[in-house]
Amino acid sequence: MIFDPFLFHPSTLLLIPAVILTFYAQTKISSAYGRYSKIKSSSGKTGADVARAILDENGLYDVKVEQVAGELSDHYDPRAQAVRLSSGVYGSTSIAALAVAAHETGHAVQHADGYVPLKIRSAFVPVASIGSQIGPVMIILAFFLPSMPFLLTLGIYAFAFAVFFQIVTLPVEFNASNRALVFLEGNGMISGREEVSGARKMLSAAALTYVAAALTAILTLLRFIMIARDR
Ligand SMILES: [Zn+2]
Repeated sequence: MIFDPFLFHPSTLLLIPAVILTFYAQTKISSAYGRYSKIKSSSGKTGADVARAILDENGLYDVKVEQVAGELSDHYDPRAQAVRLSSGVYGSTSIAALAVAAHETGHAVQHADGYVPLKIRSAFVPVASIGSQIGPVMIILAFFLPSMPFLLTLGIYAFAFAVFFQIVTLPVEFNASNRALVFLEGNGMISGREEVSGARKMLSAAALTYVAAALTAILTLLRFIMIARDR
């Protein structure tokens, strides 16, 4: 929360592990990216080549591979049916670029496969984004309006949707990374121990950032519940 009226409530201590894990995950991902964006893959394939090859192998000829501005802005857009890769990934032959490209394309394959956790996640996007905004606002209001304790309860229910979203994101992300590694290795896009372990390190560091986000959401919810019980 930007403004947290309950900052000095003892429940704030609950957030410490989340802060530590978030910091650790960010250090991991930036060091993995820093290292493996400099190591070229021996296959000479670019991020765009890898994305195209995965799509074609799965019969997804209509899904486009596009370049997008920004850094780490890589994503799959299910409405536009496009895998969008940042300029640092699109034309790069680095291990980091291939790992990111294969992971994002993994989401396109999940979409085509009707992968259930992705469907659940997509269905929850609107309600989760409303919940993550409204929940904390209600908690703040509850602080100023102690005569209206239901505000805390409502805030907790709203925020719970956001927590559920973060949790269902985990299988979606892990699965996309598994698909990425199987493809990269199986099709000789990466080869040798160093390349394979580099791609694996990149993807597991990225996965850890999602674990940190989920832990933060869960502990924040527990904290709201502790605050509500106190009142
Ligand atoms: Zn992903």
